Amino acid sequence: MYKVSNYNIIKDDENGIIVYNSYTKASLFLEKGSSISAFKDIDAFNKLDKETQDILIKNGFIIDSSRDEFAEIKYMYEKKYYDKTFLNIALVPSLACNFACPYCFEKDLKCGKENIKKYFSVLKKFAEKNFKNYQCVQISLFGGEPLLFAKECLEFLDWVKVDSKERDYRYFTSIVTNGSLLTEKILKHLLEHDLKMLQITLDSDKETHDLTRRFKNGDPSFEFLIDKISMIVDFTKDISDFKFVLRINLSNTTTDKVEESLKYIKEQYRPYVNLLIRSVYNTHAYKDKNKNNNSQIDKYFEMGKNLGFSIFQESFQYQSCEACADDKFFYLMPDLTIWKCINDLNYNDACIGKINGDGSIYIDPQKNVKWAKNAMSTFNDKECINCKLLPDCYGGCILKKCKTCKKQCRPFEMTSMLHIFR
Ligand code: SF4
Ligand code: SF4
Repeated sequence: MYKVSNYNIIKDDENGIIVYNSYTKASLFLEKGSSISAFKDIDAFNKLDKETQDILIKNGFIIDSSRDEFAEIKYMYEKKYYDKTFLNIALVPSLACNFACPYCFEKDLKCGKENIKKYFSVLKKFAEKNFKNYQCVQISLFGGEPLLFAKECLEFLDWVKVDSKERDYRYFTSIVTNGSLLTEKILKHLLEHDLKMLQITLDSDKETHDLTRRFKNGDPSFEFLIDKISMIVDFTKDISDFKFVLRINLSNTTTDKVEESLKYIKEQYRPYVNLLIRSVYNTHAYKDKNKNNNSQIDKYFEMGKNLGFSIFQESFQYQSCEACADDKFFYLMPDLTIWKCINDLNYNDACIGKINGDGSIYIDPQKNVKWAKNAMSTFNDKECINCKLLPDCYGGCILKKCKTCKKQCRPFEMTSMLHIFR
């Protein structure tokens, strides 16, 4: 009749015991010393009262004995990977930026701003040919700093608005910006294009931020951005399907220092600010030592939650990373090349094609298949097949797998803690 799910994870916490199911993302908090045998042994489950049994069944800790969870997960992952109803295109019209962050992986590259006119003209031709083939198109504005070219981005979105009505598809937008050039007028215009997510970044704490995230002229930006955060929240707090994400890049900092800095954001704004916390990792452009790593981020989330912030959890499921983990996503670079991931622009196999001057698309079959093969490799790996973290990890970063031919195990705190905080 019933069996124990393969994806029950039990963790001791300083306040008690966390029981989490990585497939359903359900979590329970038990008092210290509580019995956890029902999550491991079906005989122990059978001895529980009916009400408790129902809760465990409803949340997927206990499942029908005929189910094959691994096959279900694999099926859903593959189905999502090859879904053709949705396109997510991240626009990188230029790598130019008005900040000079030392860890930026784009900073040594040619910015390509001389191609802006051509970029949007070819993009429009591509959109004309292709957007109508999808039920929905996500246009993500990325950079460099995309708002250096706000006029061009918004003109393109105005065109999409008209095209989507004429050719019957939906679209929505998102933006990752350093925030410095954001005005009420631009924000209002973006919201007219169904802006679902806006992300800006603070570096660690005020002191670090003002050292690393400076304007090109050397001016610090922390307090300037705190004012922008107030403006964004004032403007968007009543929009229910919009998320304002504040990314905190951790680099050689402490929870106390980050806490002090986050207190600059007024209490009444905090519930509308969704914290996304990540440690800065080394790229070809940044090789400093960082005593912070992603296995500590739960402490930062706890602190953020206690201050009244919301915790950001990406809503994606059945994909291994927040960006480039399936067939329907790509970055369009300033030279109109198509990339699956741009975190290492020296790694040419991540560049899988280009858009030609007439708006037609060329995809290199070998590189595309290599990416897909690595995205799927988790389902052939013995350790992954037996791993309780599989539905949260899927073998880790595809870029690293392509480069090293090895899976990239991720810690529970990174893959799963966010689901619990949500
Ligand atoms: S570096 Fe890895 S995890 Fe990050 S966006 Fe690229 S493929 Fe995804
Ligand atoms: S890469 Fe490691 S942590 Fe991730 S699913 Fe495979 S075995 Fe588990």
